[in-house]
Amino acid sequence: MAVLRPDAVRRVDDPLASSHRGVVDRRGRPVRDLRISVTDRCNFRCRYCMPREVFGPDFAFLPRAEILTFEEISRVARAFVAHGVRKLRLTGGEPTLRAGLPDLVRMLAAIPEVEIALTTNGSLLARQAAPLAEAGLSRLTVSLDSLDDAVFRRMNDADFAVADVLAGIDAAAAAGLPVKVNAVVRRGVNDQSVIDLAQHFRRSGHVVRFIEYMDVGTSNGWRLDDVVPGAEIIARINAEMPLEPVEARYSGEVARRWRYADGGGEVGVITSVSQPFCAACTRARIGADGMLYTCLFSTTGTDLRAVLRADDGDARLREVIAGVWAGRDDRYSELRARATDGLASGERRVEMSYIGG
Ligand code: SAM
Ligand code: SF4
Ligand code: SF4
Repeated sequence: MAVLRPDAVRRVDDPLASSHRGVVDRRGRPVRDLRISVTDRCNFRCRYCMPREVFGPDFAFLPRAEILTFEEISRVARAFVAHGVRKLRLTGGEPTLRAGLPDLVRMLAAIPEVEIALTTNGSLLARQAAPLAEAGLSRLTVSLDSLDDAVFRRMNDADFAVADVLAGIDAAAAAGLPVKVNAVVRRGVNDQSVIDLAQHFRRSGHVVRFIEYMDVGTSNGWRLDDVVPGAEIIARINAEMPLEPVEARYSGEVARRWRYADGGGEVGVITSVSQPFCAACTRARIGADGMLYTCLFSTTGTDLRAVLRADDGDARLREVIAGVWAGRDDRYSELRARATDGLASGERRVEMSYIGG
């Protein structure tokens, strides 16, 4: 566990910290976003995330008793909000598999000044979008890697159809939720789907963001050759539908934004591999079991569940979180070339399905 360095911990009410309003890490980055994994289970087996050979019938998912309860998640969220977090994102595994998810959204939506977002594969949204919206969800991101049913079924490896996800997106829009669509692009797998996706969602009001395939975890057999750089994705779309760059709305915005020159809306690329954005990374992540990670590529975390269940009170929880964030020095993507060669043998990074992206 990182050592608490009081000099690096600035409290929300500290007038000297007015530009950050909270704790900052060793590189001066505040904590703004908390991504909360609510389950490590999923009904898909996307080849790039939970390949069936690894996540098969014998895979040991977390037992129920080890998963944070909604009350515990809510306590952790409030502690982070006290340190400057303004966006909570629920993720997984597949978060819509967690029973009673709207109840959790309702509890989190009661925290002042935060927006509650959800990342989902969309397969169960047709039924769940309305209760989630009603509970106070602010927005959602639906992952959809191709509109070609055969390609999509191969990618999710669980026989889900594109139509299920599109029905979920429609239900979310009908419930009044702003929707973004995320597509991970793998060369030779779905890169031919980029134009279709862009065309389909142009003028729909839903922004598509194309994500460079990342070397998260140790299960997906990632190779640099599989990555389609964001610049290439934008060039391909621009050749068919001319684009203009859009200014970032705030420092730390991960997607590079473009708009259609004819006013058809926006697309984005998330270039974690070709143009890393660690310098502005303000994200903390919690696994479903309450482990806190300060980087998507972390190999170790801090056990917040132990702190929650020791019942030392919320002040102690805030103190532990502040200490971890104050000690944070992560910039894996900036160091990727060296780090990919240099992962010590036996060292395992956490998996995307566990940490939630
Ligand atoms: N199951 C939900 C979903 O698919 O949206 C939420 C969890 S999933 C781990 C979150 C996001 O991570 C998804 O958009 C998924 O496409 C993305 N993702 C998973 N593995 C990835 C990888 N190796 N590189 C880039 N993105 C990845
Ligand atoms: Fe499940 Fe999401 Fe991972 Fe696909 S990307 S296997 S839907 S957690
Ligand atoms: Fe943030 Fe780590 Fe990703 Fe860099 S590599 S942007 S520090 S999560």
